[in-house]
Amino acid sequence: MDLRVRALESVLTQKGYVDPAALDALIDTYQTKIGPRNGARVVAKAWSDPQFADWLASDATAAIASLGFTGRQGEHMVAVFNDADQHHMVVCTLCSCYPWPVLGLPPTWYKSAPYRSRAVRDPRGVLAEFGVTLPDTTAIRVWDSTAELRYLVIPRRPAGTDGWSEDKLADLVTRDSMIGTGLARQPGSAS
Ligand code: FE
Repeated sequence: MDLRVRALESVLTQKGYVDPAALDALIDTYQTKIGPRNGARVVAKAWSDPQFADWLASDATAAIASLGFTGRQGEHMVAVFNDADQHHMVVCTLCSCYPWPVLGLPPTWYKSAPYRSRAVRDPRGVLAEFGVTLPDTTAIRVWDSTAELRYLVIPRRPAGTDGWSEDKLADLVTRDSMIGTGLARQPGSAS
C-alpha cells in the first residue's frame, strides 16, 4: 500500500496535479495541530450546556463549527448520543472515513480490514477486545461513515462530575470514546 501511494503521489506530482509541499502542510496540520482534543471540547460542552446538546443533535455541523472546528473531512457531521439503552460505534467499512476536524487522523486500527469487517458483524466482540463490556440491555448501533457524512459519538457523562468545568470534563473524553470503541474516563482514573 505504501508503495502504491508513493507511486500515485509521484505521478500526480509529475503531472502537476499536486504540490508535495501542500500535502506535507496538510498532513502536519492534522497530525500535530488538530486532534481528538477538539472533539473533547465538543463533548464537554454538550455535557454542560443542554442547548448546545440540542443544537448538536439537530445540526452537528453548525454546532461544531461554532467552536471553530471546521474543514476537510468534517463538512457534514452527525452527532450520536450514547445512553443506557443504546451505544453507538463508528466504522468506515469501505476505507477510513473519519471526522478530521474533531478527531485528527484516524488510528491505524480504524483503517484495518479486521476492524472494518468485524465492527459490523460482531460489534460486541470488538468492544470486548477494547475492554468495553456493556450490559445486554444496551443495544449497539454501528454507523458506517462515508465520504459524505462523518459521525461523532457523544459518550455518556461519567457519574460524580456534577458542577465540573468544561475543561475538567474534557479531560475525561478519550478519542476512542468518540469513536464508540471506548467509554469516557471515570473521575479519579489515571489519564
Ligand atoms: Fe472511508
